[in-house]
Amino acid sequence: MNEIFARGIEKWYSQHGRHLPWRETRNPYFIWISEIILQQTRVAQGMDYYHRFLEKFPTVEALAAASEDEVLRMWQGLGYYSRARNLHAASKQIVEMGHFPDTYESIRSLRGVGDYTAAAIASISFGLPCAVLDGNVYRVLSRYLGQETPIDTTAGQKLFRALADEMLDPIHPALYNQAIMDFGALQCTPQNPLCLYCPLNESCAALATGKVDTLPVKIHKTKVRDRYFSYLYMETISGEVLIQRRDAGDIWEGLYQLPLLESLEGPFSADEMEKKYPGCKLLVQGMTHQLSHQLLHADCYHIIVTDSSSRNLPKGQWVKRDELENFAMPKLLLRILEKVFSEIYSE
Ligand code: SF4
Repeated sequence: MNEIFARGIEKWYSQHGRHLPWRETRNPYFIWISEIILQQTRVAQGMDYYHRFLEKFPTVEALAAASEDEVLRMWQGLGYYSRARNLHAASKQIVEMGHFPDTYESIRSLRGVGDYTAAAIASISFGLPCAVLDGNVYRVLSRYLGQETPIDTTAGQKLFRALADEMLDPIHPALYNQAIMDFGALQCTPQNPLCLYCPLNESCAALATGKVDTLPVKIHKTKVRDRYFSYLYMETISGEVLIQRRDAGDIWEGLYQLPLLESLEGPFSADEMEKKYPGCKLLVQGMTHQLSHQLLHADCYHIIVTDSSSRNLPKGQWVKRDELENFAMPKLLLRILEKVFSEIYSE
């Protein structure tokens, strides 16, 4: 433990830490849910999801007893739906265990729980001396210690794991972990960290050597792949819409969608679509959605279907238009549907 560092961030946290609902509890179920939600969204938005999720599934037993569709429905809009499926699977593991696991190893053995989440739950709920290591911690430690080893290499990850363990305050692991997370999120931020008002500015190596802006070091750049989706809003005269459930092995597994044609080269033109689906009309064009490794480009075409039993139609199920909201769909598609509805039904 580094006394100056630990006391510095802990004192800072007592004055500037955020008051969040999951900070006011030691209930491991609540902390687990909050950690998984916060892996993919900002605190303000996450708070909403956190309350709604716990209102619907107040206990781990309630979550385990829910259907996958119900869980995905509550997760809708957060992205990374595999995390929701893992939460659901892990809740069943916990119910089988008979109680929430209370050692680092047993928490880590839950589906979808990685080192970071296991350390957060173990320290905050059970007071175990387990150091969290996430983007915030990499940044704070690399700057404070002036450590230039790239964080996205095996050697870097090993080194920072050891540094995180070494710096931990083993007597107050819950306080220390929450302090370092907030310190990274609010004070030692990626851009424009508040060094002038930082309680560690006299002992920070990066500040002393002018390396704040260059730390932490990363060597790999994330490659982003473009995908082009042409959605089909197929509707019968009586107002039923064709939807499909997405298969495993790709993004958004288990969520519902409109039928779509995909291309990796560029969007299908309106003429190409007309050849495949005569009478279709372009309603939404060039909507984009950024995922961590993919940039999605989406168009949407409207088609009136006279014979919903025709074999030439894509596979799927017909549902009443006003029941579409009962099916969990990715955010991109919700934005598209909003536009489609305003184009077709707004008069
Ligand atoms: S002085 Fe600046 S770089 Fe160093 S820990 Fe504080 S905020 Fe971060």
